Amino acid sequence: SVVLKNITKAFGELPVVHGVDITIPDESFTVLVGPSGCGKSTLLRMVAGLEDVTDGEIAIGEKIINDVPARNRDVAMVFQSYALYPHMTVAENLGFNLRLKGITKGERRRQALEVAELVGISEYLERYPRQLSGGQRQRVAMARAIMRDPQVFLFDEPLSNLDAKLRVRMRTEIRQLQQRLSTTTIYVTHDQGEAMTMADQIVVMRDGIVEQVGSPLEVYDQPATEFVAGFIGSPS
Ligand code: ATP
Ligand code: MG
Repeated sequence: SVVLKNITKAFGELPVVHGVDITIPDESFTVLVGPSGCGKSTLLRMVAGLEDVTDGEIAIGEKIINDVPARNRDVAMVFQSYALYPHMTVAENLGFNLRLKGITKGERRRQALEVAELVGISEYLERYPRQLSGGQRQRVAMARAIMRDPQVFLFDEPLSNLDAKLRVRMRTEIRQLQQRLSTTTIYVTHDQGEAMTMADQIVVMRDGIVEQVGSPLEVYDQPATEFVAGFIGSPS
């Protein structure tokens, strides 16, 4: 599990996250929703180790990871902007982390092929990111995350640059992948439709606090606050 215990974050004098407590069960798919600026990305970035925690504890399983550098965390993150290396082919993008670890070219190739097959990008291995569509790039970004073989997957609005039809298709693909790989996943979106269809557990945030944690049915049927009722009930 991933456990956030009384997490607080301030940027200088500006507090943006106020005492967040969440437990993300092993192999579950937890979706974080809430209005723009409520602290969703900041929370994910703290789990990834891209941002320091001001106060509180983050643990994966029994291990507190506050002081573990990002590269040593058993975590991979997928961004809205893909964040692919533009001067590298798809195959090179996929193999980059393994290269840093000193894994041979043949072995990198073998693993890249296997993962490319899994996400349906085998045909594009020799292309550069600029030669791919948005959906293809997002698949490459997912493949690169899978190459790290992480225990925890973090997604920050991975579908928001895609058209509506592709977005709906990729919801299913991402869930199938997550189940196949048995990763513990935290997925940020401000698309309520995504949250309702993809989540085992939804965390509704507002202004740096958690308003409610529950299954899609619970937050829809029994909203804890008026804010949750309005937010979950409104069309995205
Ligand atoms: P969105 O849905 O628009 O992506 P979000 O919920 O992901 O929003 P965050 O990006 O986590 O929101 O930002 C939370 C708050 O922290 C915002 O008020 C933002 O301006 C502020 N913030 C984020 N990063 C920094 C930073 N590096 N320095 C100062 N303030 C920051
Ligand atoms: Mg964000």
